[in-house]
Amino acid sequence: MPVRRGERFICGRRILVPEALVGTVLGLAAADEVFGYTREDMFATLVCTIEVHRGPVHYGAVLNLRGPEAGTLWALWRDGAEPSAVIEIPDCPAGREVDEPCSEFEGHPGGHSWELSDPPRIATTFPFPLRTWM
Ligand SMILES: [Zn+2]
Ligand SMILES: [Zn+2]
Repeated sequence: MPVRRGERFICGRRILVPEALVGTVLGLAAADEVFGYTREDMFATLVCTIEVHRGPVHYGAVLNLRGPEAGTLWALWRDGAEPSAVIEIPDCPAGREVDEPCSEFEGHPGGHSWELSDPPRIATTFPFPLRTWM
């Protein structure tokens, strides 16, 4: 697939949600008493959807909270390690006025989701041989 000049890509790193993280996510989600969340609501695979970055920390949405003001639970992980941190971050407000909301979190680095494409090569899901991508 030819790469268009100037095309921008998401990071695209993938990792399976470890079993240990399921309880953490559902525990956080349980703080919302209106909606009951189960593991079926969670993503089984995290995909880092922010723009290609140099920093070592990847961000993957793990659970979309329901409700008009709700944000999203994001799991953070580093290359070569399992995700261990989960934080709730409001959704990026960009694009709402044209009904094409950005699917990133508020304050995310890089371009908005509609400015980015999937990477030309799909990254392997963790675990994989440790490599450096600089
Ligand atoms: Zn990333
Ligand atoms: Zn955005």
